[in-house]
Amino acid sequence: LRVLVIGSGAREHALIWKLAQSNLQPELYVAPGNPGMEKLATRVPLSEEDVAGIVRFAQEKSIRLVVIGPEAPLALGLADELEAAGILAFGPKKAAARLEWSKAYAKEMMQRAHVPTAASATFSDLQSALDYLDKAGKAMVVKADGLAKGKGVIVAESLAETRAAVEQIMKSEAGARVVLEERMTGREVSLMYFVDEHFVQPMLPARDHKRIGEGDTGPNTGGMGVFAPVPSFTPTDVEEVTRRIVQPILSELKKDGIVYCGVLYVGLMVTANGPKVVEFNARFGDPETEAILPLLETDLLEVCLATARHRLSDVQVSWRSEAAVTVILAAEGYPGTPRKGDTIVLPPIEDWPKQTVIFQAGTDLSSTGELVSAGGRVLAVTATGADAQTAAERAYALANAVEMKGKYLRRDLLHDLDA
Ligand code: ATP
Repeated sequence: LRVLVIGSGAREHALIWKLAQSNLQPELYVAPGNPGMEKLATRVPLSEEDVAGIVRFAQEKSIRLVVIGPEAPLALGLADELEAAGILAFGPKKAAARLEWSKAYAKEMMQRAHVPTAASATFSDLQSALDYLDKAGKAMVVKADGLAKGKGVIVAESLAETRAAVEQIMKSEAGARVVLEERMTGREVSLMYFVDEHFVQPMLPARDHKRIGEGDTGPNTGGMGVFAPVPSFTPTDVEEVTRRIVQPILSELKKDGIVYCGVLYVGLMVTANGPKVVEFNARFGDPETEAILPLLETDLLEVCLATARHRLSDVQVSWRSEAAVTVILAAEGYPGTPRKGDTIVLPPIEDWPKQTVIFQAGTDLSSTGELVSAGGRVLAVTATGADAQTAAERAYALANAVEMKGKYLRRDLLHDLDA
């Protein structure tokens, strides 16, 4: 059984690590992957955005299933092209992935489905956006409509800052259209679902920490670390999100003939009036996935195959009753311009604390075969344990033992464990 994973980050490393444990003993390929995956999968030198190349490779190699990690190939219609070629895809088609690649569309669908989210308005003309803002007379959240690699959202603190944000974002490629949104307050929770035509299956709630600085200060990043589950977010809360958010949005898509298949990631703000949607993503979250997959008891490959075949209700998805913590090790300079090429020395594996694993993200091999940094987020160090404190102790012990010049990590990931 040949399986191809698309992507090159710690999320894809975690997917491959988990798929490699499958009883179905898959032969794993990854495009383009990173050095951390080489023991588990054959790397294929194709860009994640080379849709035609990926489909051709999958046909030539008789790949049964393609698991699509990042958002860019989903927005380019990779799942559509694979299906047309008779290859199973784990990931939504372009029309369904639009929930992520157009924030204006996501807001429109939420309005239609009466899903709780911040009030908003969409503009494709600067003057109308500024007029609306002046009428509102308060600070708002400004979002580029299109994909912007996590750089398309500005949470403005004042009216003047909001105006500047609108001008800045409307100049960018992703921001030809802009969404102005009311600011919500509360704690954020990420909740991902396996979804097929007939069934949805929630994963464990997780909390990412997006700001670079301790105490949630400084600029946003791709995510600096996660704990899962979130103790304050109860099974009843999960059930409410399924009933009031996920099922209505999927039904609304179906009214337009759009069937969702893959992972639906729901970014939530838990407000005084209950959970409201911050954003949808059409794929596994990064770094949430690095914390959650080590807690998955079920065979991931069986879940992915069942989902791609729209037979998700055939599998019982279960979770270990433990906690997981993922600590991101970032390069000096992140999230600005990270320094690359620093040597990374991992401690010998027999010295790692128990129940730990390192997923690689921005890494490369130097000409002499040394592991070096090659991106902003370099490694994701995950540990599991009976509780979050135990998991965190193990993850930090291993993170401390990794040597890399300029290594940066947040040490306060549990500060909001009880919030
Ligand atoms: P990602 O990189 O995770 O896909 P994104 O760039 O698509 O994120 P969002 O998740 O929509 O953008 O927003 C980024 C962050 O901005 C959120 O995690 C949240 O902290 C903050 N944010 C977004 N919308 C709001 C809102 N309406 N009220 C308050 N904060 C918000």
